[in-house]
Amino acid sequence: MSSTWHILGAGSLGSLWACRLARAGKTVRLILRDEQRLRDYQSAGGLTLVEQGRPQTFAIDAQTTADSSPIQRLLLACKAYDAEKAVASIAHRLRPDAELILLQNGLGSQDDVAARVPLARCVSASSTEGAFRERDWQVNFAGHGFNWLGDPANPLAPTWLDDLADAGIPHEWTPDILTRLWRKLALNCAINPLTVLYDCRNGGLAEHHCEVATLCAELAELLQVCGQPQAAEGLENEVQRVIQATAANYSSMYQDVGNGRRTEIHYLLGHACRTATRHGHPLPHLERLYRRLVEHLNGHGLPSD
Ligand code: NAP
Repeated sequence: MSSTWHILGAGSLGSLWACRLARAGKTVRLILRDEQRLRDYQSAGGLTLVEQGRPQTFAIDAQTTADSSPIQRLLLACKAYDAEKAVASIAHRLRPDAELILLQNGLGSQDDVAARVPLARCVSASSTEGAFRERDWQVNFAGHGFNWLGDPANPLAPTWLDDLADAGIPHEWTPDILTRLWRKLALNCAINPLTVLYDCRNGGLAEHHCEVATLCAELAELLQVCGQPQAAEGLENEVQRVIQATAANYSSMYQDVGNGRRTEIHYLLGHACRTATRHGHPLPHLERLYRRLVEHLNGHGLPSD
């Protein structure tokens, strides 16, 4: 089944998906925030995807959120903290049986979006692909990875997965998408905040082995308490493996803070701490980490929500 891929958010990941779908001959429409952004995009002549140093430009059609054409399928590719507001801006355009694919990292924004558009099917994605914007309308495909997709409310796989296969977007449908999202969130909570607080690359956390182990133990407890025991299995081992395998890298949160960009902390460590509180299960080290990170962000003039 092929219908138009509306993509809201022409940033790193949205552009990566848009270019690959367009290259495979799928109909793609970018949804940009306003007329100014639309004019900027039009004067750039399209979206450029850089793969292994080779740029390729795709003249993908674009419109603003104010356009009135109906939307059957929407890839939501903004940050978690923008998701609900972005969806609200196009909610009136969604067809009654519309489907949304939510690319946001962390947890919490998916529920906020689903509550805004109760009639739409919301498919969540967990992506390990890596892309960054070199400048507006140009995305660099930096890290090959994988995309897990699933709908916690409905295990039936959608037919548009064929479009992803045609576009060479590596993916698998899973009924356990929440487990995937929780696992990724736990890995993030064990690594990213500490890299910010210790001002180090991922590998620098090898010197803080005990602190990482304590956080992993609390995160595993949390996953058990909130009904995600599978996401807790072998967590500490995987965290230590990731620290070693990505020793030379700066975490995404480290890069956000370094570049003065808002982080997605509210949907990562913040979500973990709120969930623990909701279950009446105190996690003192995780909560202290959250307080330290909030202070650090505020000290750098960055929002902590
Ligand atoms: P990004 O580069 O900052 O792109 C976000 C885009 O959303 C921007 O182009 C922004 O528009 C747009 N946007 C926000 N609100 C909007 C609105 N109301 N209307 C229209 N456009 C709007 O972010 P990203 O790196 O692609 O990340 C997106 C999500 O994917 C995040 O949750 C991230 O954690 C996750 N993720 C990213 C990667 C990666 O490698 N980048 C990997 C895995 C997961 P403007 O340009 O106009 O500001």
